[in-house]
Amino acid sequence: MSSQATLDAPVVIAGAGPVGLVLALELSHQGVRSILVERQPTTTTFPKMDVTNARSMELLARLGLADLVRAAGVPSQHSFDVIFASSLAGREFGRWRLPSVDEMRAEIAGCTDGSAPAEPWQRAMQADVEAVLMRRCLEDDMVDVQRPWRVTGVTQDADVVETTIVHANTGERRVLRSAYAVGCDGARSQVRASLGIEQEGAEEVATFALVHFRSRDRERLQAHGQFWHLFFATGGIVISQDEDEVWTVHSQVPPETQPGSVDPVAVVRNVCGVPVEIDEMLEHTIWRPNVLVADRYRAGRVFLAGDACHQVIPTGGYGMNTGLADAVDLGWKLAAVIDGWGGEALLDSYEAERRPVALRNRDWSFRHLSVHLQMPERADVALIDDDSDAGARHRAELGEFVAANNGENTSVGIELGYVYARSPVVASTAEDEPPELDPLVYRPTTFPGARAPHVPLADGGSILSCFSRGFTLVDHGAPDPARLLDAAAALGVPMTHVALGPDAASASVYERRLVLVRPDGHVAWRGDDAPDDCDALVAHVTGRGERVATASATAKESAA
Ligand SMILES: Cc1cc2nc3c(=O)[nH]c(=O)nc-3n(C[C@H](O)[C@H](O)[C@H](O)COP(=O)(O)OP(=O)(O)OC[C@H]3O[C@@H](n4cnc5c(N)ncnc54)[C@H](O)[C@@H]3O)c2cc1C
Repeated sequence: MSSQATLDAPVVIAGAGPVGLVLALELSHQGVRSILVERQPTTTTFPKMDVTNARSMELLARLGLADLVRAAGVPSQHSFDVIFASSLAGREFGRWRLPSVDEMRAEIAGCTDGSAPAEPWQRAMQADVEAVLMRRCLEDDMVDVQRPWRVTGVTQDADVVETTIVHANTGERRVLRSAYAVGCDGARSQVRASLGIEQEGAEEVATFALVHFRSRDRERLQAHGQFWHLFFATGGIVISQDEDEVWTVHSQVPPETQPGSVDPVAVVRNVCGVPVEIDEMLEHTIWRPNVLVADRYRAGRVFLAGDACHQVIPTGGYGMNTGLADAVDLGWKLAAVIDGWGGEALLDSYEAERRPVALRNRDWSFRHLSVHLQMPERADVALIDDDSDAGARHRAELGEFVAANNGENTSVGIELGYVYARSPVVASTAEDEPPELDPLVYRPTTFPGARAPHVPLADGGSILSCFSRGFTLVDHGAPDPARLLDAAAALGVPMTHVALGPDAASASVYERRLVLVRPDGHVAWRGDDAPDDCDALVAHVTGRGERVATASATAKESAA
């Protein structure tokens, strides 16, 4: 198996869900070819994810995909309001007011202190987002989409990965040879199974019926006004998917419930509390969320990303959103190694950086869910719609509970504030304590490992648009940036100089005169002057620490 001379592609990706698709596009963006193997002939028809958060929109904008995703999603004027009510016919008792894309864009435009994201969030169904991403992959010469082919296993030696694929219709079997492979094949990952990687956490923590339907009965469905999510005191939820006629209902059902054993029309009727005119049944099924994180994200030349290595409860929207950041983190690192300027530690840093994020997001998704699980226990159905003072008091109590637990869609600290502080390729000293993460608040920082904050540039664009390929040295008037740039050039590491000057509005947000930012927009290092040993720094942040440190020591010795 060993020679890399006859590879089919540098990277094989198993699974073309949102994470596999974005990984293929990230690799292409970095100039690396991939084969994307998908067992299904088409992208999903299930709605699944319905919010692409601000960080994911930044990452998609980086790949030129944000406008396409927005065009496939809910128009920008609609709010993200979440309503709590007894039923469609009953009383509203709580509301999380959440800004529309337009409102968020206006907030962003007025913010120069780095605390806002560069992009607003976006409501869009996963089915529509996947279709957009797949179209882009099919148009891309660097992405070879193979479907319907099922990955049945991966094997590897020191140099090559062999991925066995079987055609879903003909049964034809092929073996793909690549330098690396990535399992983006979802919760039941065959790649994870092939690697023998276990997961920690809990399986099937609840059982839900999902009913996805088309209805023009907006009069009844929007009885409480326009909404994104409408939660009922009895535990069900309606999602407005397109602000027009596509809706999804989720309802908790007994654990033993099997797909096909529930009447979807009855589920909608029970959840809403009144009959709703259904024009077309689009999908219905039973689904069971897991809260699991893989023990390892890497085995040799094979990696896991997305649901293949972490599964969360949808509350909070940390599933696909966490997976997209995996794809970008892993994509540029694989490309750097394939391109020859990244070292082995860069690949190891993928798990070191991304697994702690998944663990935290998994736990927070559970906390957000618990708010909804408490609702049926707290709500007194006999009192909730009552006109009496006692009824009003009960609704007020429930409203206070809802207002006090609104983190599900406002946890900007979780979405933007994670810091890869202990990453082996981030240059911070051991005594530097990373800022503590407040789930509800994002505090801009250039602490090494943090997402570099968004600040508007003079041309109105975001500084984030500079962080894309190679490293970027953001310079607010340092005396000697050239030493670092020269060191990078000598080591073959792409590094661009963005000179903003000491008086630029961004200077205080960026906190140091020099901030070295990676292709994924995370800070690799910062300082007021170039470090004494620029070679060592470049070697460290590109994962070639030992080799380059040794090489420069040898060079110094022979010079002496
Ligand atoms: C009801 C619901 C609501 C959700 N809401 C949100 C939300 O608002 N925000 C959010 O971020 N996340 C949300 N999620 C989670 C989100 O859907 C997942 O996290 C996301 O789909 C993970 O993407 P993925 O690409 O890793 O895996 P998947 O989407 O599972 O894609 C895996 C792909 O691999 C393919 N595949 C599997 N096995 C093989 C094989 N052996 N060979 C070849 N191909 C294979 C599959 O066909 C599939 O196309 C929600 C999920 C559900 C169920």
